[in-house]
Amino acid sequence: MIDVRSDTVTRPTTAMREAMSAAEVGDDVYGDDPTVNRLQELAATLSGHEASLFVPTGTQSNLIALLAHCQRGDEYIVGADAHTYKYEGGGAAALGGIQPQTIAFAENGELPLDQVAEVIKEDDPHFAKSRLLCLENSQHGRVQSLEYMQSAQVFAKEHGLILHLDGARVCNAAVKLNQSLKAVCGCFDSVSICLSKGLGAPVGSILCGSKKFIRTAHRWRKVTGGGMRQAGILAAAGILALTEGYERLHEDHDNAALLDSLLQGVPGCRVKSSWTQTNMVWVEYEKDHSQSLPEFAKSRGVLMSVGRNTGRLVVHRDISKDDITTVAEVIKAYLQQA
Ligand SMILES: *Cc1c(COP(=O)(O)O)cnc(C)c1O
Repeated sequence: MIDVRSDTVTRPTTAMREAMSAAEVGDDVYGDDPTVNRLQELAATLSGHEASLFVPTGTQSNLIALLAHCQRGDEYIVGADAHTYKYEGGGAAALGGIQPQTIAFAENGELPLDQVAEVIKEDDPHFAKSRLLCLENSQHGRVQSLEYMQSAQVFAKEHGLILHLDGARVCNAAVKLNQSLKAVCGCFDSVSICLSKGLGAPVGSILCGSKKFIRTAHRWRKVTGGGMRQAGILAAAGILALTEGYERLHEDHDNAALLDSLLQGVPGCRVKSSWTQTNMVWVEYEKDHSQSLPEFAKSRGVLMSVGRNTGRLVVHRDISKDDITTVAEVIKAYLQQA
């Protein structure tokens, strides 16, 4: 099966499986796992932050960042379509008493800072305390520029807001920007990075920030049930994700661009080409094909998810150039008969 539903579907490489089986381990709740410690040091160095914490998922990583930064009755400002707000079960509100204040993403995936300014609340007992601004990079595959992130950093400082990045795919963004991870992550007080998406690890995310922040996050990781024991088995794959996985992301971006070009001019659909910046291709369909297109594709060996009028095709390490041609041919064949 050619699976373009998400980059989470990547299977660990042979090198990862070998590193996992050979990993030196200890009990990470005691801080004794040398492989976890090595991964955390590597992630801190690469991101330019003082410290980092290995966590089971990106959802938990964002959640414990919010729990560490905010108190009950605080609020965080976040995109209306952001993962942290919309796709994490309302965790910050449910578990932290932290309310979201949403604003719409602009067409380029930015949260316009003038609009952020408008929703920042005065210090008044009627209002929640505006505490944190949460950005996402990449946002639905769209890359946020270094200039924007730097201006958000200045803006957050001016307004006394903490700045968190949901950087599930920040490595894709850094590659696209041709910037170091450090340059991109350095604009933020904390950054969450998924190891198990395009980077290819089977499990895990990394949360980066100051030593003080990571100490607090470490406590919340335990509270939320994320203290793992011989986690070095997973961290070993995470180390390869941040090295070898990171180094090859440009191939996915090239393949996404190829898929975009193959779908140009196909009757019945329109590619949102301005969004094809990293490893995702967004396709708008003239009609609702949310049921029949995935079924048709599956019968031809392609797994894809399609919403009512929009479909997201995600390219990753387990998708070859030939697979890209197949995906485009399947969509063309479907639309011809639909
Ligand atoms: C995948 C993802 C996360 C975290 O997801 P998990 O499945 O919990 O690891 C967070 N933010 C974004 C933008 C994501 O795509």
